[in-house]
Amino acid sequence: MAEPTFIITGGTVIDATGEQRADVLVYDGLVREVAEGLDVPLGATVLDAGGCVVAPGLVDLHTHLREPGREEAETVETGTRAAALGGYTAVVAMPNTDPPLDTAAAVRQVLELGRSASAQVAVAGAITVGRAGERLAPMAELAELGVHLFTDDGAGVQSAGLMRKAMEYARGIGVTLAQHCEDGSLACDGAMHEGAWSSRLGLPGMPAAAEEVMVARDIALSRLTGAPVHFLHLSTAASIDLVRRAKADGLAITAEAAPHHFTLTDAETAGYDPVFKVNPPLRPQSDVDAVRAGLADGAIDAIATDHAPHTPETKDLPFDQAPPGMLGLETALALAITELDLPLARILALLSWQPAAIAGLADDHGGPIVSGAVANLCVIDPTETWTVDATALASRSQNTPYAGRTLRGRVRHTVLRGTPTVFEHEAQR
Ligand SMILES: [Zn+2]
Repeated sequence: MAEPTFIITGGTVIDATGEQRADVLVYDGLVREVAEGLDVPLGATVLDAGGCVVAPGLVDLHTHLREPGREEAETVETGTRAAALGGYTAVVAMPNTDPPLDTAAAVRQVLELGRSASAQVAVAGAITVGRAGERLAPMAELAELGVHLFTDDGAGVQSAGLMRKAMEYARGIGVTLAQHCEDGSLACDGAMHEGAWSSRLGLPGMPAAAEEVMVARDIALSRLTGAPVHFLHLSTAASIDLVRRAKADGLAITAEAAPHHFTLTDAETAGYDPVFKVNPPLRPQSDVDAVRAGLADGAIDAIATDHAPHTPETKDLPFDQAPPGMLGLETALALAITELDLPLARILALLSWQPAAIAGLADDHGGPIVSGAVANLCVIDPTETWTVDATALASRSQNTPYAGRTLRGRVRHTVLRGTPTVFEHEAQR
């Protein structure tokens, strides 16, 4: 079936190879021509990119789509609609659903739901059965379905011996383990970062060391096994420094950071508003500065949202009882443009082509915008300002800590496999 012909006109194309002023002609799902001053074919739809940047679609390494099991908070449909509005063409769905994504049947169900979604849905499989940390999930069987990342996200694999076994297995089948670094014996029931603010507020804290000891452990295990490891949502200065040194040693380590860890500090917790509860928790300014430095110097490879929708019924509890997590898909790009003092090409590397490579999605996402490439694209106005309205988000939930904030940088169009999923700021499906 022929898919629509359209032309993206008047923009500046930025991809991993550089920057040029060019129109982009797309039909039958592929980029067909990239050049300045292209003629508009008869019947083609024009996507105006005046003043905009045309970039490969963004790729989120860390999305909680909540389906199956928590459809009242988010579904594959609503979560990917939010993703498309945020400029994403692919998301990695985390496996802490109910049931968890630790069987071929569960993975198939989410992949099937993703087929008609507004972004490509890649699935991260669980490392252990039930994410219980006791025995390995059937990783080879899941890898056959295309699963490339494995994680027990929400929890770290506590046993070093089991993690070693998982790494040896992962290396053998060519997949990557992604760790949520949190030593349970140190984190205990901590509700926020352990420090001056937790003392003042009388809330149980989890020390930065709860994250750092697992980062250090898994770097040692990667050295031992030769297996690649991806670190999810790093949030402390020492974690990032460990990763920086491991990379300098040539280890196959990659890492991501979430927008809230480069924009918010633990001082936000002062009002006991559970919208600021997240795991890993918001940290002091020195850690926020370290995340920014890691994004700038390459210690951190990707910005990942950790998009974690919750309904008011489950989220609006006393701070120490509320579940951790906040929305991210519709604000990540604008937060990066507004808050990071980085060139747009560097921000796009962190949001598109580098995460695409980590997710094993680089064949279709994040690649150079050239004739023959799969047309997974986004068109961004880097100067447009907008104010976050929680009630206007496409997500089924509203738990954003940025409500009322004015941000710079907005997605005008998003194109998935040659079809616009967002056109003039409006979701198309
Ligand atoms: Zn996590």
